[in-house]
Amino acid sequence: MSLFSKRYYSSARLLFASLLLILLLFILLSLLFYHRLQQAQQIVSNVAEQAVPAVLEASLVHDKVKELNLQSELLRDAISQAARARASQQISQIIVEISSLDHQQYVQHQYQQQRMQLIADEARSLDMLIAERLVLQQHNRQWLDKLSQLQQESQQLTDTITSQPWLLHYSGLLRDVTALYSIDRLYNLRQSRTELNNLLTMNQQMLSQLGATERRAALALSEQLTTALLSEHGILALREAELSNIAKATGKANFLRSLVTDYASETELNAYQSAASLMQLSQQSSTALDRQNQFSFALALAAILLLLAIMFYTQKRVIKRLKLLNEKVLAGSGFDGDDRLFASNDEIADIARSFTEYSNTVAAQQTALERQSLTDGLTGIANRRHFDSQLHSAVAMAKRMQQPLAVILLDVDHFKAYNDSYGHLAGDDTLKAIANTLADTLQRQIDLVARYGGEEFACVLPNTSPEQAMIMAEQLRLDVLALMLPHHASPTAGFITISLGISCLQPGQDISDKVLLNQADKALYQAKSQGRNCCVML
Ligand code: GH3
Ligand code: MG
Ligand code: MG
Repeated sequence: MSLFSKRYYSSARLLFASLLLILLLFILLSLLFYHRLQQAQQIVSNVAEQAVPAVLEASLVHDKVKELNLQSELLRDAISQAARARASQQISQIIVEISSLDHQQYVQHQYQQQRMQLIADEARSLDMLIAERLVLQQHNRQWLDKLSQLQQESQQLTDTITSQPWLLHYSGLLRDVTALYSIDRLYNLRQSRTELNNLLTMNQQMLSQLGATERRAALALSEQLTTALLSEHGILALREAELSNIAKATGKANFLRSLVTDYASETELNAYQSAASLMQLSQQSSTALDRQNQFSFALALAAILLLLAIMFYTQKRVIKRLKLLNEKVLAGSGFDGDDRLFASNDEIADIARSFTEYSNTVAAQQTALERQSLTDGLTGIANRRHFDSQLHSAVAMAKRMQQPLAVILLDVDHFKAYNDSYGHLAGDDTLKAIANTLADTLQRQIDLVARYGGEEFACVLPNTSPEQAMIMAEQLRLDVLALMLPHHASPTAGFITISLGISCLQPGQDISDKVLLNQADKALYQAKSQGRNCCVML
């Protein structure tokens, strides 16, 4: 009874849900793999499109920067306009080449462009300074020529000018002026300027001590030297401008070099950062892949375990029970007693319940059929089939046990006439009454009375001697007569009577049930012949 209070679990649904779960697990696994694959693909394409070009570009920029520095030095140290122009043109060309490199992948693209613009501006500015210096150097060379000319002139005047001190002073003055070209610092130049001014003043004083002819010639030379030295575009002014230009150009060149180096470092740094961020990304992806591998392994393991559980469940709860059910169905019984069939309240238990009901119904029907097949429909006592089998086994038993056996065949007298007089239904009722009386008369369990056919009855009486059989037959005849069923059409009596034929099997006798029946039939025939309502044993 606990069967029906148990919760219902559908095996089919459970199996379906488990398989669905496994399917979902595998779909989840596939999606995860797809996602990771896409990530890996993205990283590879990033490496191909960003990191590699960035590193390549950084190396190209590095080469160009070296060239740019070289050309800057060539420009700074140019000794002719042609060399300057060539270096300047090279610089412009390199700047264009660097700018044309693809910076699209860089984060600080715009900033780099501005830096390149600054480099170009500074290079142009350096170029202008160098051009200016070359012009200054040109003028200075002319002044050096002038100085050597003055030197020659002063030496040619030794006939005119006899004053050795002035000549020596003038010659020293020329030397000191020429020495200005070996000065490389503005400070020293300014000191020399003061000293030269003093020397010129001294020169003026010495001139005043000369004679008129000498003074005229010496004055002409002195004035030329003074003009060369102190005029607006004179040696001192130009030399100062040149030193100032050299200082500026050196500073500019250094600034340009540091700008260019910075630019190269920046490019390298960008390339490094780009590569490093991709490395980090691929590192993360690799870690994630590792984690996913573990997760996938766990998922696959779970799916396999689930599958094993399903197989185990199917084997134990489905297949075994189905086999058992099949055996029970083939055997046709035993559903109720077997708890294994009802271990789960599911479809198999449902089928087992249905089969239980079906088998019980079949068994009940079988019992009813068996009963029907052995019972006479009208009278409710045993039928001829039952009598025949009972007689057969009783004869065998009597022979084995060496016991006597008696058979009585009895027939209702003038029953046709009874039917004709009282009707068929009344005839049926009379047959039932006679059957009941015969059954009541036979007290022993082992005795059997059966309807043998129509209005004939037969009795088998095991362990009954001929004498006892004769007494029993007589008792049967009297009991039927005692019913006092009226039968006006009977020429024998005014009531229903029966005639009986008796046959016996004595111990040691070997006759068959058929022979026994035959003898009883003959005896009955004789009873009829003798006037009916009597018992005859041959
Ligand atoms: P006898 O004394 O020689 O036996 O004469 P009888 O008329 O009894 O014998 P007969 O064999 O001529 O007729 C038997 C009758 O029994 C005929 C039939 O109508 C009747 N009978 C047989 N079976 C049944 C039955 O089941 N119900 C009824 N009402 N009558 C039956
Ligand atoms: Mg008859
Ligand atoms: Mg009869």
